[in-house]
Amino acid sequence: MDVINIKQLEVFANHGVLREENILGQKFLVSASLYVDTRQAGREDNLDLSVNYALVCDTIRAFMKDNTFKLIEAVAEKLAEKILLEFDKIKSIKLEIRKPWAPIMQSVDYVSVEIERGWKRAYLSMGSNMGDKRAYLDNAIDAMEAEPLCRVKKISPFYVTAPVGGVEQDDFLNCCVEIETLLSPYELLDFVNGIEADNNRERIIHWGPRTLDIDIVLYEGCVMSEERLTIPHREMAVREFVLRPLNDIAPYEIHPVLNKSVGELFRNIVDDEV
Ligand code: ATP
Ligand code: CA
Ligand code: CA
Repeated sequence: MDVINIKQLEVFANHGVLREENILGQKFLVSASLYVDTRQAGREDNLDLSVNYALVCDTIRAFMKDNTFKLIEAVAEKLAEKILLEFDKIKSIKLEIRKPWAPIMQSVDYVSVEIERGWKRAYLSMGSNMGDKRAYLDNAIDAMEAEPLCRVKKISPFYVTAPVGGVEQDDFLNCCVEIETLLSPYELLDFVNGIEADNNRERIIHWGPRTLDIDIVLYEGCVMSEERLTIPHREMAVREFVLRPLNDIAPYEIHPVLNKSVGELFRNIVDDEV
Protein backbone atom coordinates (compact mmCIF):
# COMPACT_ATOMS: atom_id res chain seq x y z
CA MET A 1 0.00 0.00 0.00
CA ASP A 2 1.15 3.56 -0.74
CA VAL A 3 2.25 5.77 2.14
CA ILE A 4 1.94 9.47 2.91
CA ASN A 5 4.49 10.47 5.55
CA ILE A 6 4.39 13.24 8.09
CA LYS A 7 7.72 13.53 9.88
CA GLN A 8 8.21 15.11 13.27
CA LEU A 9 5.40 17.61 13.43
CA GLU A 10 6.24 19.79 16.41
CA VAL A 11 3.47 20.47 18.94
CA PHE A 12 3.73 22.05 22.36
CA ALA A 13 1.33 20.22 24.72
CA ASN A 14 0.77 19.08 28.30
CA HIS A 15 0.85 15.28 28.42
CA GLY A 16 2.76 13.54 31.18
CA VAL A 17 2.53 11.66 34.45
CA LEU A 18 4.05 14.55 36.44
CA ARG A 19 1.95 17.52 37.48
CA GLU A 20 4.68 19.88 36.27
CA GLU A 21 4.39 18.44 32.79
CA ASN A 22 0.64 19.07 32.78
CA ILE A 23 1.13 22.68 33.91
CA LEU A 24 4.27 23.77 32.07
CA GLY A 25 3.92 21.68 28.93
CA GLN A 26 6.70 20.51 26.65
CA LYS A 27 7.61 19.76 23.08
CA PHE A 28 6.25 16.68 21.31
CA LEU A 29 7.23 15.44 17.86
CA VAL A 30 4.61 13.46 15.98
CA SER A 31 5.36 11.30 12.97
CA ALA A 32 2.71 9.47 11.00
CA SER A 33 2.73 7.08 8.06
CA LEU A 34 -0.70 7.09 6.44
CA TYR A 35 -1.45 4.00 4.37
CA VAL A 36 -3.62 5.19 1.52
CA ASP A 37 -4.16 4.07 -2.06
CA THR A 38 -2.82 7.12 -3.93
CA ARG A 39 -2.94 5.63 -7.44
CA GLN A 40 -6.01 7.46 -8.75
CA ALA A 41 -5.10 10.77 -7.08
CA GLY A 42 -1.65 10.49 -8.64
CA ARG A 43 -2.92 9.68 -12.11
CA GLU A 44 -5.51 12.41 -12.10
CA ASP A 45 -3.52 14.94 -10.06
CA ASN A 46 -6.56 15.47 -7.86
CA LEU A 47 -6.36 16.11 -4.11
CA ASP A 48 -9.99 15.07 -3.56
CA LEU A 49 -8.94 11.50 -4.37
CA SER A 50 -6.19 11.46 -1.74
CA VAL A 51 -5.76 12.47 1.90
CA ASN A 52 -5.01 16.11 2.57
CA TYR A 53 -1.95 15.96 4.84
CA ALA A 54 -2.42 19.59 5.88
CA LEU A 55 -5.78 18.61 7.41
CA VAL A 56 -4.21 15.59 9.10
CA CYS A 57 -1.57 17.90 10.63
CA ASP A 58 -4.34 20.23 11.84
CA THR A 59 -6.14 17.28 13.43
CA ILE A 60 -2.94 16.12 15.15
CA ARG A 61 -2.13 19.57 16.48
CA ALA A 62 -5.66 20.26 17.76
CA PHE A 63 -5.90 16.84 19.38
CA MET A 64 -2.52 17.15 21.10
CA LYS A 65 -3.40 20.60 22.46
CA ASP A 66 -7.04 20.03 23.41
CA ASN A 67 -6.35 16.93 25.53
CA THR A 68 -4.10 16.03 28.43
CA PHE A 69 -3.05 12.42 28.91
CA LYS A 70 -0.65 10.90 31.38
CA LEU A 71 0.92 8.51 28.90
CA ILE A 72 2.17 8.97 25.37
CA GLU A 73 0.75 5.47 24.86
CA ALA A 74 -2.69 7.00 25.39
CA VAL A 75 -1.91 9.95 23.13
CA ALA A 76 -0.88 7.54 20.36
CA GLU A 77 -3.84 5.19 20.82
CA LYS A 78 -6.55 7.84 20.84
CA LEU A 79 -4.97 9.98 18.15
CA ALA A 80 -4.61 6.98 15.80
CA GLU A 81 -8.29 6.16 16.33
CA LYS A 82 -9.37 9.74 15.72
CA ILE A 83 -7.43 9.98 12.46
CA LEU A 84 -8.75 6.61 11.22
CA LEU A 85 -12.32 7.64 12.00
CA GLU A 86 -11.98 11.10 10.47
CA PHE A 87 -10.21 10.25 7.20
CA ASP A 88 -11.87 7.26 5.57
CA LYS A 89 -9.27 6.86 2.81
CA ILE A 90 -6.66 5.97 5.46
CA LYS A 91 -6.66 2.16 5.84
CA SER A 92 -4.04 2.06 8.56
CA ILE A 93 -1.62 4.36 10.32
CA LYS A 94 1.76 4.08 11.95
CA LEU A 95 2.10 6.77 14.57
CA GLU A 96 5.09 7.80 16.67
CA ILE A 97 4.89 10.24 19.57
CA ARG A 98 8.31 11.51 20.63
CA LYS A 99 9.11 13.33 23.83
CA PRO A 100 12.54 14.92 23.42
CA TRP A 101 12.42 16.66 26.81
CA ALA A 102 11.07 13.77 28.89
CA PRO A 103 11.94 14.68 32.52
CA ILE A 104 13.86 11.53 33.44
CA MET A 105 17.04 13.23 34.70
CA GLN A 106 19.17 11.42 32.15
CA SER A 107 20.45 12.34 28.76
CA VAL A 108 18.54 10.75 25.89
CA ASP A 109 17.80 11.99 22.39
CA TYR A 110 14.15 11.35 22.95
CA VAL A 111 11.74 8.69 24.22
CA SER A 112 8.87 7.61 22.03
CA VAL A 113 5.95 5.26 21.56
CA GLU A 114 5.19 3.90 18.11
CA ILE A 115 2.03 2.00 17.22
CA GLU A 116 0.35 0.72 14.10
CA ARG A 117 -3.45 0.59 13.91
CA GLY A 118 -5.91 0.03 11.10
CA TRP A 119 -9.20 -1.27 9.83
CA LYS A 120 -9.40 -5.08 9.93
CA ARG A 121 -11.82 -7.12 7.88
CA ALA A 122 -13.76 -9.72 9.84
CA TYR A 123 -16.61 -12.13 9.15
CA LEU A 124 -19.29 -12.92 11.70
CA SER A 125 -21.75 -15.78 11.62
CA MET A 126 -25.10 -15.17 13.30
CA GLY A 127 -28.01 -17.37 14.19
CA SER A 128 -31.33 -17.26 16.03
CA ASN A 129 -33.93 -19.93 16.77
CA MET A 130 -36.22 -18.34 19.34
CA GLY A 131 -38.94 -15.71 19.13
CA ASP A 132 -38.78 -13.21 16.27
CA LYS A 133 -35.60 -14.62 14.72
CA ARG A 134 -35.41 -12.08 11.92
CA ALA A 135 -35.77 -9.20 14.38
CA TYR A 136 -32.90 -10.52 16.53
CA LEU A 137 -30.58 -10.72 13.51
CA ASP A 138 -31.66 -7.25 12.38
CA ASN A 139 -31.05 -5.89 15.90
CA ALA A 140 -27.53 -7.29 15.79
CA ILE A 141 -26.79 -5.64 12.45
CA ASP A 142 -28.25 -2.34 13.72
CA ALA A 143 -26.03 -2.51 16.81
CA MET A 144 -22.96 -3.04 14.63
CA GLU A 145 -23.92 -0.15 12.40
CA ALA A 146 -24.35 2.07 15.46
CA GLU A 147 -20.80 1.34 16.67
CA PRO A 148 -18.30 3.84 15.22
CA LEU A 149 -15.46 1.32 15.49
CA CYS A 150 -17.33 -1.10 13.18
CA ARG A 151 -18.47 -0.68 9.62
CA VAL A 152 -20.87 -3.22 8.15
CA LYS A 153 -19.74 -3.85 4.57
CA LYS A 154 -21.82 -6.85 3.42
CA ILE A 155 -24.80 -8.81 4.66
CA SER A 156 -25.50 -12.28 3.28
CA PRO A 157 -28.95 -13.65 2.48
CA PHE A 158 -30.76 -15.24 5.46
CA TYR A 159 -31.17 -19.02 5.47
CA VAL A 160 -33.50 -21.27 7.44
CA THR A 161 -31.44 -24.23 8.65
CA ALA A 162 -32.17 -27.36 10.68
CA PRO A 163 -30.45 -27.44 14.10
CA VAL A 164 -27.27 -29.49 14.52
CA GLY A 165 -25.67 -30.87 17.70
CA GLY A 166 -28.40 -33.26 18.87
CA VAL A 167 -30.58 -30.95 20.98
CA GLU A 168 -34.30 -31.06 20.02
CA GLN A 169 -35.15 -27.46 19.04
CA ASP A 170 -36.66 -25.10 16.47
CA ASP A 171 -35.04 -24.33 13.09
CA PHE A 172 -32.45 -21.55 12.93
CA LEU A 173 -32.30 -18.44 10.84
CA ASN A 174 -28.64 -17.82 9.88
CA CYS A 175 -26.61 -15.22 8.07
CA CYS A 176 -23.08 -13.85 7.83
CA VAL A 177 -21.82 -10.29 7.78
CA GLU A 178 -18.59 -8.72 6.66
CA ILE A 179 -17.37 -5.88 8.82
CA GLU A 180 -14.35 -3.63 8.98
CA THR A 181 -13.37 -2.83 12.50
CA LEU A 182 -10.85 -1.03 14.66
CA LEU A 183 -11.62 -3.44 17.51
CA SER A 184 -9.02 -6.09 18.37
CA PRO A 185 -10.21 -9.74 18.28
CA TYR A 186 -10.96 -9.79 22.05
CA GLU A 187 -12.65 -6.39 21.93
CA LEU A 188 -14.77 -7.66 19.05
CA LEU A 189 -15.70 -10.75 21.09
CA ASP A 190 -16.73 -8.57 24.05
CA PHE A 191 -18.70 -6.34 21.69
CA VAL A 192 -20.66 -9.21 20.09
CA ASN A 193 -21.21 -10.87 23.50
CA GLY A 194 -22.69 -7.53 24.63
CA ILE A 195 -25.06 -7.51 21.65
CA GLU A 196 -26.12 -11.10 22.49
CA ALA A 197 -26.79 -10.10 26.10
CA ASP A 198 -28.81 -7.07 25.01
CA ASN A 199 -30.95 -9.47 22.99
CA ASN A 200 -31.81 -11.70 25.94
CA ARG A 201 -29.26 -14.37 25.13
CA GLU A 202 -29.01 -16.86 27.96
CA ARG A 203 -26.42 -19.61 28.04
CA ILE A 204 -28.43 -22.54 29.41
CA ILE A 205 -27.71 -25.62 27.33
CA HIS A 206 -24.63 -25.69 25.11
CA TRP A 207 -25.75 -25.76 21.48
CA GLY A 208 -29.31 -25.30 22.76
CA PRO A 209 -31.95 -22.78 21.66
CA ARG A 210 -30.94 -19.12 21.66
CA THR A 211 -32.32 -15.73 20.70
CA LEU A 212 -29.03 -14.67 19.18
CA ASP A 213 -25.61 -16.21 18.65
CA ILE A 214 -22.78 -14.26 17.05
CA ASP A 215 -19.48 -16.02 16.32
CA ILE A 216 -16.28 -14.55 14.91
CA VAL A 217 -15.52 -16.76 11.93
CA LEU A 218 -12.53 -14.99 10.38
CA TYR A 219 -10.57 -11.90 11.42
CA GLU A 220 -8.16 -10.55 8.82
CA GLY A 221 -5.37 -13.19 8.55
CA CYS A 222 -5.51 -13.85 12.29
CA VAL A 223 -4.80 -17.33 13.70
CA MET A 224 -5.22 -17.78 17.45
CA SER A 225 -6.31 -20.52 19.78
CA GLU A 226 -6.89 -19.40 23.32
CA GLU A 227 -9.33 -20.37 26.02
CA ARG A 228 -11.88 -17.65 25.29
CA LEU A 229 -11.24 -17.19 21.60
CA THR A 230 -10.28 -19.33 18.63
CA ILE A 231 -9.93 -17.76 15.19
CA PRO A 232 -10.78 -19.01 12.60
CA HIS A 233 -13.84 -20.41 14.39
CA ARG A 234 -13.15 -24.07 15.23
CA GLU A 235 -16.19 -25.50 13.50
CA MET A 236 -16.51 -23.25 10.48
CA ALA A 237 -15.17 -25.75 7.95
CA VAL A 238 -17.77 -28.39 8.87
CA ARG A 239 -20.82 -26.16 9.19
CA GLU A 240 -23.00 -25.66 6.17
CA PHE A 241 -25.04 -23.01 8.00
CA VAL A 242 -21.86 -20.92 8.30
CA LEU A 243 -20.32 -21.65 4.90
CA ARG A 244 -23.42 -21.19 2.73
CA PRO A 245 -24.04 -17.54 3.68
CA LEU A 246 -20.29 -16.86 3.95
CA ASN A 247 -19.81 -18.22 0.44
CA ASP A 248 -22.42 -15.71 -0.79
CA ILE A 249 -20.38 -12.72 0.42
CA ALA A 250 -16.76 -13.97 0.57
CA PRO A 251 -16.16 -17.00 -1.70
CA TYR A 252 -12.47 -16.15 -2.26
CA GLU A 253 -11.61 -15.43 1.37
CA ILE A 254 -8.88 -17.85 2.50
CA HIS A 255 -9.06 -19.93 5.67
CA PRO A 256 -5.55 -19.18 6.99
CA VAL A 257 -5.01 -22.59 8.62
CA LEU A 258 -6.54 -24.94 6.03
CA ASN A 259 -5.30 -22.69 3.25
CA LYS A 260 -8.53 -23.21 1.30
CA SER A 261 -11.02 -20.66 0.06
CA VAL A 262 -14.49 -20.38 1.57
CA GLY A 263 -15.90 -21.50 -1.79
CA GLU A 264 -13.79 -24.65 -1.73
CA LEU A 265 -14.75 -25.46 1.87
CA PHE A 266 -18.41 -24.93 1.05
CA ARG A 267 -18.30 -27.19 -2.04
CA ASN A 268 -16.48 -29.86 0.01
CA ILE A 269 -19.28 -30.21 2.55
CA VAL A 270 -22.08 -29.92 0.01
CA ASP A 271 -20.40 -32.64 -2.11
CA ASP A 272 -19.95 -34.84 0.98
CA GLU A 273 -23.69 -34.75 1.56
CA VAL A 274 -24.61 -36.22 -1.85
P1 ATP B 1 -19.98 -22.91 18.95
O1 ATP B 1 -18.81 -22.05 19.34
O2 ATP B 1 -19.63 -24.35 18.75
O3 ATP B 1 -20.75 -22.34 17.79
P2 ATP B 1 -21.84 -21.71 20.72
O4 ATP B 1 -21.73 -20.55 19.80
O5 ATP B 1 -23.20 -22.25 21.00
O6 ATP B 1 -20.94 -22.92 20.19
P3 ATP B 1 -21.35 -20.11 22.99
O7 ATP B 1 -21.98 -20.53 24.28
O8 ATP B 1 -21.99 -19.01 22.23
O9 ATP B 1 -21.16 -21.41 22.10
O10 ATP B 1 -19.83 -19.67 23.23
C1 ATP B 1 -18.97 -20.40 24.03
C2 ATP B 1 -17.62 -19.65 24.11
O11 ATP B 1 -16.92 -19.77 22.89
C3 ATP B 1 -17.71 -18.17 24.30
O12 ATP B 1 -17.77 -17.84 25.66
C4 ATP B 1 -16.43 -17.65 23.63
O13 ATP B 1 -15.51 -17.17 24.60
C5 ATP B 1 -15.85 -18.86 22.96
N1 ATP B 1 -15.33 -18.63 21.61
C6 ATP B 1 -14.16 -19.17 21.16
N2 ATP B 1 -13.90 -18.81 19.91
C7 ATP B 1 -14.93 -18.01 19.51
C8 ATP B 1 -15.20 -17.31 18.30
N3 ATP B 1 -14.37 -17.38 17.23
N4 ATP B 1 -16.34 -16.56 18.23
C9 ATP B 1 -17.18 -16.51 19.30
N5 ATP B 1 -16.96 -17.14 20.49
C10 ATP B 1 -15.84 -17.90 20.61
CA1 CA C 1 -22.11 -20.64 17.48
CA1 CA D 1 -21.25 -18.32 20.13
